[in-house]
Amino acid sequence: MVHIKYPLSWNKNDFSIKIFCSIPNIATGILIRAGKANFVVDPGDGILRDLNKEIGVEEILNISDVFITHGHHDHVGGVWSLLTYLHVMRKKSNLSIHYPEGCVEIESIHNAFQQVYSQSLSYKIILEKIDNHRSFRTRNVTVTPFPVIHKEMTGEGNKTRQVPALGYKFTFNKLNICYGGDTAYCDTLVKNAKNSDLAIIEAGHDEHTPDDMHMTMKEAKTIGETAKEYFLVHVPE
Ligand SMILES: [Zn+2]
Ligand SMILES: [Zn+2]
Repeated sequence: MVHIKYPLSWNKNDFSIKIFCSIPNIATGILIRAGKANFVVDPGDGILRDLNKEIGVEEILNISDVFITHGHHDHVGGVWSLLTYLHVMRKKSNLSIHYPEGCVEIESIHNAFQQVYSQSLSYKIILEKIDNHRSFRTRNVTVTPFPVIHKEMTGEGNKTRQVPALGYKFTFNKLNICYGGDTAYCDTLVKNAKNSDLAIIEAGHDEHTPDDMHMTMKEAKTIGETAKEYFLVHVPE
C-alpha cells in the first residue's frame, strides 16, 4: 500500500504547483502560481481552508482562472464555497471557469449560484466551456486541454459511461506541468506527459488488472517516468 503525504509541492522559475489533497471519492485541491497569476485546479472540498492557509485572502481574490477536469464531487465539491467566498470578500476582477463540454455539474452549480447571488455579485464569472483541444493563453500561461478516458457506473448493473473529462498542460517560462485529472491509461496523456517538467499522474485503481476508470500504480509509473519529474496522486487510502 502506497501512502502519499500531502501537500505535494513543486516550484521552478516563478512557476509552482501545490497539491493540497488528491484522494479518490474524498477531495482534490490544487493551486498553480505563475508569476503573479493564481489558478485553482479541481477545487474539491476543503479548498478554502487550504487556500487561506497557503496564500491568504488577498491572493485568493487574485485568482483569475479555475480549471475543472471533470464533474465528480471529489473535484468540484468546493466550487460553491469558493464562488461564495469570493463574493463575500468582494472580489472585483473577473473569474474564468474552464470546464469540459457536457459537464452538467459545473453548469448546474453556476446556474444555482447566479440565481442566489446575481443581483449583488461583486465580480463577474465567465464560463469557458472547452469543446476543442486547441491551446489558449490566459495570464501569460499557455493552456492545452486534452481528452482523457474516465468512466463512471450508470447505476444499472455493471454498465459504465464516459464522463466529460480533460487533462491540462500548463506552460509558463518554458516549463510545463501536465495534469491528467482522473483517467484510465490513454494515448493523449502518454503524449502530453512525455518530457514535461512535471507530470501529475493519478493511480486511482487499487487492483492490478487495468480498468477504464483509473490507472494502476504500474500504468501510472510507466507514464510518470517519461516526464522529467512526476507525482503520483489520487491513490486510494
Ligand atoms: Zn477523482
Ligand atoms: Zn472522477
